[in-house]
Amino acid sequence: MSKQPGQQRPSPISATVDFDAEGVQHGFLKLPISNDESAWGAVMIPVTVVKRGEGPTALLTGGNHGDEYEGITALQKLSSRLRAEDVQGRVIIVPMMNTPACTVGRRTSSMDGGNLNRSFPGDPDGSVTEKIADYFTRVLVPMSDVVLDLHSGGRTLDIIPFAASHVLDDADQQRRALEGAKAFGAPYAIMMFELDAEALFDTAVERQGKIFVATELGGGGTSTPESLAITERGIDNFLVHYGLVEGELQAPAEPQIYLDMPDASCYVQSEHTGLLELTVALGDPVTEGQVIARVYDMTRSGVAPIEYRAGRDGVLAARRFPASVNMGDTIAVIAEVVESLG
Ligand code: CA
Repeated sequence: MSKQPGQQRPSPISATVDFDAEGVQHGFLKLPISNDESAWGAVMIPVTVVKRGEGPTALLTGGNHGDEYEGITALQKLSSRLRAEDVQGRVIIVPMMNTPACTVGRRTSSMDGGNLNRSFPGDPDGSVTEKIADYFTRVLVPMSDVVLDLHSGGRTLDIIPFAASHVLDDADQQRRALEGAKAFGAPYAIMMFELDAEALFDTAVERQGKIFVATELGGGGTSTPESLAITERGIDNFLVHYGLVEGELQAPAEPQIYLDMPDASCYVQSEHTGLLELTVALGDPVTEGQVIARVYDMTRSGVAPIEYRAGRDGVLAARRFPASVNMGDTIAVIAEVVESLG
């Protein structure tokens, strides 16, 4: 049974920063807990607020999933780099939204197993993960004009670097988000039509009429100099584009390619358990029917592998990262090229 927002009690989370104060503040969002390790304890979610004068508010989030390090690392770096004099308006940085997942390097929470990005709009009386979601929905998002949520593939996927916006009912909101996704300046950009969006952070933000841009920026449960450079440039571009920081947009080194993932034929899932060999690299073009992966029986030698073929033309946009694959795992995602600039 869903409750109306008006019937809900205030969030149990309190901030040690004053969101209305000028200058740079580093603090925590404190969520009270009581368990065997800490009777009167708190989950401490790091937050940085940089404010100067009047202007829009940007909310920058990483660690929505705790093993997606490109956003976490870039926002940690930004939190110690951004000065008040650089900003017009307010920048709220939460590098590790789901801190209990980030501290153990996992996609989901170490405290309740919660997948934060399947927990929105959240619940102040729910699990730790639902309480975090609720705080974002009812406290941080209402303060914000534009939201950038930095994802990547995590430990089990590697994904081409892209910024994405969504197909929305409000044409102006859709256009403003798409412009932000383009300005991010990743090598790829995607316009997404979300099929199962109900519990996503994206939806909680967009329902409030706010601008939402999401990214996927690599993966494998680590970062690289290349993925971090794209992430950091993208964050800077996002802040410049929406008027938070003065400066010029930095162009991507590679041409921007617009992709689409229109239907289920984009996803290749394993029907076998074994050893995975991808025969194409991320970003490579593929044609329908082409062998893109092989899965080998790990229990014996001398057995021909199972071949997996592309269900459509496109580029390899995402791949399973570990070589060990189980039945049901996504092996590959093939995106359609809509437009290529340059
Ligand atoms: Ca993610």
